[in-house]
Amino acid sequence: MTEPLKLYNTLTRSLEIFKPIKKGHAGLYTCGPTVYHYAHIGNLRAYVFEDILKRALKMNDYKIKHVMNITDVGHMTSDADTGEDKIIKGAKREGKTAWEVAVFYTVQFKKDIKALNIIEPDVWCRATDHIKEQVALIQKLENKGYTYIIPEDGVYYNTKKFENYEELGRLNIEGQKEGARVEFIEGKKNKADFALWKFSPKEEKRDMEWESPWSKGFPGWHIECSAMAMKYLGEQFDIHCGGVDHIQVHHTNEIAQAEGATGKKFVNYWIHNEFLIVENSEKMAKSGDNFITLATIREKGYDPIDYRYLLLTAHYRSKLTFSWEALTGARTALTKLKNYVVDFKTGSNNGDWKKYKEEFENSINDDLDTPKALSIMWMLIKDENIGAGKKREAILHFDKILGLKLEEAKEEDIPQEVKELIRKREIARTEKKWKESDETRAKLRALGYEVSDTQEGQTVRRIV
Ligand code: AMP
Ligand code: ZN
Repeated sequence: MTEPLKLYNTLTRSLEIFKPIKKGHAGLYTCGPTVYHYAHIGNLRAYVFEDILKRALKMNDYKIKHVMNITDVGHMTSDADTGEDKIIKGAKREGKTAWEVAVFYTVQFKKDIKALNIIEPDVWCRATDHIKEQVALIQKLENKGYTYIIPEDGVYYNTKKFENYEELGRLNIEGQKEGARVEFIEGKKNKADFALWKFSPKEEKRDMEWESPWSKGFPGWHIECSAMAMKYLGEQFDIHCGGVDHIQVHHTNEIAQAEGATGKKFVNYWIHNEFLIVENSEKMAKSGDNFITLATIREKGYDPIDYRYLLLTAHYRSKLTFSWEALTGARTALTKLKNYVVDFKTGSNNGDWKKYKEEFENSINDDLDTPKALSIMWMLIKDENIGAGKKREAILHFDKILGLKLEEAKEEDIPQEVKELIRKREIARTEKKWKESDETRAKLRALGYEVSDTQEGQTVRRIV
């Protein structure tokens, strides 16, 4: 029998059986991109993890409502609500308006997630389309005494007024060193207080600003997620996701806003993915050498789905170190897998894969253990008691969760990398560079292709 779906809840720091608010339904909110630049592959790890979660919920017969925001205003370069609005910064960099930058990178983001075979959310919502809802939520908080104004700066949330403020992040604000979490700015009553509404600077006209009951300005980053999540999923819903960097500030603040306003528990399960890190560097940022995008991956001859495979080889709660060698390994494995899917088109339907189905689904239900799920799929491939036809059926079933587009694998699918190596070997042979020719043959073998030299030239055959 398949085990029930268990997920690691950051709120309780434990593995819990998923119990929805409404039987058979799951409400899911995932923090979306800040559209001032391309998403880097670290950001994309978050969206692939959320996609696996969605597919797992679907596997367990839940009807899902998935909401994702587009942050197109208010996300400041510093967590202390100082610095610059990231969208404005992007606009200056590119000599465009903030609106143009936001639209451009939203389109790019949607292309990226499509390339990664991520199922689109049911609701996309832009912060700038929901100013009314955000202002209403701030007013609610104001009426309940949670806010105060810092003149010429903005409306702030008084975190001392919210009793459970430290719960999600297991924070100890008092005991924390100054600046450990967010820096202290003049006028704040407490270190952790944050902006709900920022006033437009007097000296400059912003591209994005709105009238409000306080002063012309723009919303803080955190309020958009509370306001839009509640608008589309209700005051209480099931699951909220994001990267681990959001635990201490963004999600903590979302809870303070929502629960401060409604007096009800906002979200039952908070689920966070660990970071993707790049070899020999601290943090992937949208500037600097380690800013790798899907475009970079394509330029180097890889397919975005190779990257998806790589992500699935690590558990979402473990750090994953990205390297080009690791991506090559993922591509090799995926190429082999696709070849099997094609070869298994013809073959017997002997045996049954019930045992593998159960083990595969149990691994997914065990807090989305994709590395284990992959290993079960590989074990099935090697099982000599199961016929090719059945294996293909099983793999395609597993791929509903893995999302590796295996159904599209075709006979003529000689990967670009293989074609290039064949060409390279051809040149090496005409130049009588035998060592290089042999090395290239070994590389082809590692990718699952055997070349033979005939009078007509090289012939290529896949190794099964
Ligand atoms: P942002 O566009 O910066 O708001 O981030 C989008 C999502 O990516 C958020 O859920 C972040 O927590 C997540 N994230 C940012 N950097 C990384 C990283 N290096 N690895 C994994 N997730 C990340
Ligand atoms: Zn958010």
